[in-house]
Amino acid sequence: MGETSYERELQAATAAVVEAAAICRSIQGAIGPDVLEKRDRSPVTVADYCSQVLVCRALARTMPHDPIVAEEDATDLRRPEHASVLQRMLSELAGAGLSGEAEVLELVGRGNAEATPSRMWTLDPIDGTKGFLRGEQYAIALGLIVDGQVVVGALACPNLALGDELGSVLTAVRGQGAFMAALARPGERRPIRVSDRSDPSQARTCESVESGHSAHDVSAEVVRRLGIAVDPVRLDSQAKYAVVARGDAEAYLRLPTRKDYEEKIWDHAAGCLVVEEAGGRVTDVQGRPLDFSRGRTLAGNRGVVASNAAVHDRFLQVLAELDVR
Ligand code: AMP
Ligand code: MG
Repeated sequence: MGETSYERELQAATAAVVEAAAICRSIQGAIGPDVLEKRDRSPVTVADYCSQVLVCRALARTMPHDPIVAEEDATDLRRPEHASVLQRMLSELAGAGLSGEAEVLELVGRGNAEATPSRMWTLDPIDGTKGFLRGEQYAIALGLIVDGQVVVGALACPNLALGDELGSVLTAVRGQGAFMAALARPGERRPIRVSDRSDPSQARTCESVESGHSAHDVSAEVVRRLGIAVDPVRLDSQAKYAVVARGDAEAYLRLPTRKDYEEKIWDHAAGCLVVEEAGGRVTDVQGRPLDFSRGRTLAGNRGVVASNAAVHDRFLQVLAELDVR
């Protein structure tokens, strides 16, 4: 073990996403029907920034020199039109011992490092913002990339049930397997495995709720060609990777909707490692492994297929037949 066990990183990352999940939960719980009617996105904006603050603070305590590449930008938050967001953040964060504007802004800004694939953290403070607003699935996703490879992943899914309890946290270290725990008891983690179903016609699939993020018409055709009788289950965020990793689905399809879109590293780092360490396989739609060495985006990839490994090649074959790229 020694230096490369990543024990310290795993502990810090798990604690960070668990703490962030708690504040997201409390903010999501206060969303009333009025917010949905007005299409007011401010609750998710506040929660997104609060989550980034807490994760950056947790990492800074133990690894103050590690760069963090997170989705939210501190310069936006400094603009006058965001003053009310900042005030709401301060009231949400008071319980976490944060009260100064400058300190909060500094912590958000810690997440704005340049991408350095030799060693960097990547964070999506709230992945699945639309799911968050709808009261559905979202995730806090944190990954550590070393030499262009994801080596630690922590994925908190506050609305993903574990038994009869709501809230799961999935973690993985490269070479050490994947684990899941109830969000309320992150220390009680159990190993997870992908499903062993190998008949593609029996595969349970999942995809984004948003048709702008994954081509629903194409996945419907893939499923039809494979003789699968049930439609893909739609859920927001990296909860899709969680569902594959713990054996509740055989495949997650993310099929390109635009020629120019490059997937963001924070949308995939944690989830990808968790699936791989649970025994699954993750590639792009052409079968290439996800390349985390290219900066903020997966510039060398197109779309994503994450599976239990057993059905993977068959999905890639059908995607090739359909000329998906
Ligand atoms: P999901 O929850 O699966 O719908 O994915 C949410 C993520 O999709 C967001 O975090 C965005 O970064 C990402 N996203 C935004 N536009 C696109 C797009 N055109 N194709 C794929 N992903 C996108
Ligand atoms: Mg995201």
